[in-house]
Amino acid sequence: MREGGCSCGAVRYRLTSDPLFVHCCHCLNCQRQTGSAFVINLLIEADRVELLAAEPEPVDVPRGSRSKQRIWRCPTCRVAVFSKYTSAKMRFVRGGTLDEPASVEPDVHIYTRSKLPWVELPESARSFRSYYDTEKEWPAASLERLAALRKR
Ligand SMILES: [Zn+2]
Ligand SMILES: [Zn+2]
Repeated sequence: MREGGCSCGAVRYRLTSDPLFVHCCHCLNCQRQTGSAFVINLLIEADRVELLAAEPEPVDVPRGSRSKQRIWRCPTCRVAVFSKYTSAKMRFVRGGTLDEPASVEPDVHIYTRSKLPWVELPESARSFRSYYDTEKEWPAASLERLAALRKR
């Protein structure tokens, strides 16, 4: 089981299973939010993110379109630990906040149309200029979990 948290240690979390899928997102929103080249997001059911210490604080952040993204941050050091995009039942946990960030690898690279030119992806990487078709890319077990999540 993976654990992680913010920089000051006030927020700690545990993922009670493997993620459904892992994104490396090269979109401009993620670049701005992280101040970096991309973000690594572990997609997982919200109830599989167990909070072990302080409650992170939700902050609604405007995105390029009309939509908003809810980002949960440590109330003390303000490091972002996870977000919500469309479904409240799903979390996007930020891979860099894991105690062992090397314990996950991206399943897909998305929004590579805005990938910084000096970021070179491995030949084997599954990459998409924008988003992708979940039904085509997710493993069967994750699609089953997704279907179960939608029914709740
Ligand atoms: Zn903190
Ligand atoms: Zn993004």
